[in-house]
Amino acid sequence: MKKYDNIVVGSGISGLTLALLLGMNGHSVLLLEKNTRIGGSLARFYRQGIPFDTGFHFTGGFYKNGILHDMLTVLGIHDYIRPIYIAQGKNNRFVFEKEQAVFDLPVGYQAVISKFKDYFPSETTAIDRYFDMVRDVCSRTVSMDLRNITLSPNVINEDYISLDKVLNSLTDNRLLKGLLSGFCMCHGVKPAEISFANHSRVSYDLYKSMSRVKDGGDAFIKAFKERFAKLDIDIMCGSFIKECIDIKNDHVGRFVLNNGDEISCKHCVFTIHPQEILKILPQKHLSKAFIDRIKSFEASAGFFSVYGIVESDNAVDTLEPTTLSLFPTADINLLIDPYNPGPPAMVIMKNTETVNAKSYSVLNALEVSFPENVEDWKNSKKGKRPDGYMKYKQERINNISKRVINIYPEYSDSFKVVDAASILTFKDYLHSPHGSAYGIKQKIGQFNLFGKLPLRNVYAAGQSSVLPGLVGAMMSSFIVGRAVVGKDDYNRFIGRGLES
Ligand SMILES: Cc1cc2nc3c(=O)[nH]c(=O)nc-3n(C[C@H](O)[C@H](O)[C@H](O)COP(=O)(O)OP(=O)(O)OC[C@H]3O[C@@H](n4cnc5c(N)ncnc54)[C@H](O)[C@@H]3O)c2cc1C
Repeated sequence: MKKYDNIVVGSGISGLTLALLLGMNGHSVLLLEKNTRIGGSLARFYRQGIPFDTGFHFTGGFYKNGILHDMLTVLGIHDYIRPIYIAQGKNNRFVFEKEQAVFDLPVGYQAVISKFKDYFPSETTAIDRYFDMVRDVCSRTVSMDLRNITLSPNVINEDYISLDKVLNSLTDNRLLKGLLSGFCMCHGVKPAEISFANHSRVSYDLYKSMSRVKDGGDAFIKAFKERFAKLDIDIMCGSFIKECIDIKNDHVGRFVLNNGDEISCKHCVFTIHPQEILKILPQKHLSKAFIDRIKSFEASAGFFSVYGIVESDNAVDTLEPTTLSLFPTADINLLIDPYNPGPPAMVIMKNTETVNAKSYSVLNALEVSFPENVEDWKNSKKGKRPDGYMKYKQERINNISKRVINIYPEYSDSFKVVDAASILTFKDYLHSPHGSAYGIKQKIGQFNLFGKLPLRNVYAAGQSSVLPGLVGAMMSSFIVGRAVVGKDDYNRFIGRGLES
């Protein structure tokens, strides 16, 4: 039987962050990944030698003293990651089709406020109040300060009020409410169901700046791998825990892997979907209330993703990273509803990727999608999907392509679809129960699965724990990492990292 200080299950950004944090604190770590390679949603895939992003396109938080900046600095990988800021003006655009309104987001919190006031001159009080509240929520959120984070929930009043309620109290202007709800696409929960606090925590950094990263999620994976090589961290791909055995006083003595290996450890942290964790934990050690709580978690929205290139001699326009969020209506509640009868919201991202000195204009269109859209085929297997599914997939590809050309008529001859992924593709690739983009739907007042579990040496972290997205997933690993290494070691580690 092998012994490690820690097992970390799942090697997306949460698992990678946690493994490195523990390794840097002198712990031995076994990182288990079910896939054949590490990275989860971060990992890019290649078609015809061109890289495409799976589940990481852009983020906020790179500015000095931003949470992402600080986490990367402490982990010693800041210099490996090169942000490419999505610049001013039309490169970061929100389009509302029914209302025929176009809004461009500048860079910088104050600049966004000023621009929104220009767009809505009679709503300046509501706009000031909204942005004050967003900033205030983040300044009072303990988990957004690496020095002060703890496992205790630290909820604030705004965790108990929905985004919808706050917006309704500020304004009657439908379009403004739609615009202020635009970043719901970045947590996948409708305004009526997300707390104002969590919407603020996800949106704050995105209002300040939005960045892609050179080489996308692969840049993170490369950085982590280089750091791991110097530490006591073993990676096992194609591996997962089959069983927890030798349980005494609610402490798991041995974790049995799919290859039959038995591992003992002081701490085992799952960074995978809560409902996948439930399948692994021995049910007789869990209360019915605990099981029911986890089973009741719903899926966040996901995406149907079309990956394409713009084959043009004159694709100057595509050289700059661009994000265009397309909302068929300002009613975001309707757009993030599985039963929305109208066209879905969509994000179109353009970027130039350079491989071996050759540049490609890459265009990725993500249309909001839900597990309900693929319910009929949910038990089908990759490579053996029924005709009905293939027809559904082709229809969505055609429709998305039409919408892309409608927005960018100049690409009518040059836009070529290279591949596509449905919710089922994401489900299979990420070994998640539904294929949603952000794990569970983080509903207002919900008690997520996070931190210590009913088995004493077992913990949960990951995107479904605290906040979705790259930043939220990393934050969850810092919080659990602190609990595992202990307060004093953690404080020294953070102090050293931030001072260096
Ligand atoms: C299409 C799409 C677009 C997105 N765009 C963005 C974006 O632009 N910006 C952003 O910030 N966020 C984005 N997200 C969300 C972001 O990708 C996630 O919030 C974040 O990457 C989740 O990281 P994670 O480590 O918690 O989970 P994951 O990345 O899902 O990693 C979990 C890992 O665990 C593995 N695993 C599962 N079960 C087991 C098991 N039993 N044993 C061992 N391993 C297991 C999986 O194979 C996977 O590698 C997007 C997501 C999607 C799907």
